[in-house]
Amino acid sequence: MGKPLARITCPICDTIERMELTGPLRVWSDVSRQAIRIDPNCHVGAAAAICPNCQSPFGVLIYLGSSTIQHLFNTNSPEETDVALRDASIVTVPPSAIAPESYPNLPKLISENFVYIQEDAQRRRNPAGILSGARSCLDVALKALGQEEGGRRARINNLASAGLITTAIAAWAQTLWEEGSDASHDLQANLDRAIEHVDFLRLFFEVAFEMPARVALSSHGAVPVEPVAD
Ligand SMILES: [Zn+2]
Repeated sequence: MGKPLARITCPICDTIERMELTGPLRVWSDVSRQAIRIDPNCHVGAAAAICPNCQSPFGVLIYLGSSTIQHLFNTNSPEETDVALRDASIVTVPPSAIAPESYPNLPKLISENFVYIQEDAQRRRNPAGILSGARSCLDVALKALGQEEGGRRARINNLASAGLITTAIAAWAQTLWEEGSDASHDLQANLDRAIEHVDFLRLFFEVAFEMPARVALSSHGAVPVEPVAD
């Protein structure tokens, strides 16, 4: 059997793309009985697809009207596939959600919002929202680390001087601040760049919040040195 190119709405990124159906993985003669049949002269089948836009794999349940699953999988062109699917109903089944990394020592306000930012990054959508949200997370994180007063340049540099973050992370934080501000003013941003910033923000949270807590645990309850605020 072939691999029909069907127009499907991706359940992860919501774009409508023509994508290859792999299968049929299962065929049912009577969907209510869920009996798996070998005979492909059936009208209900399951297949798999990978979205060309976000690269996510997902399942596809196909309920055909007049065509059979065999006919659908023997089509040789996108046009033939469209004809076979003209009275079909298609249900997409997303993969089980991957839990965005959680950070037990991050302030609750940040971790709650960072979940949505990471979801957007994972689903490759809303780049301006990702960037302006990432900048806000950075701002709240600086306050939580004792840097509440002064310009952001000084607040970020204070963390580096206190040895809480490296100078490379500090330099990146300055860039995130600038690009995040631009994104919230312009309502547009480069998606790949926004995702890079999310990766960096993870590293920042890991270094500034999680590592000190782990160090404290491993030194039998010794309190880590607090960053010095100017
Ligand atoms: Zn997709």
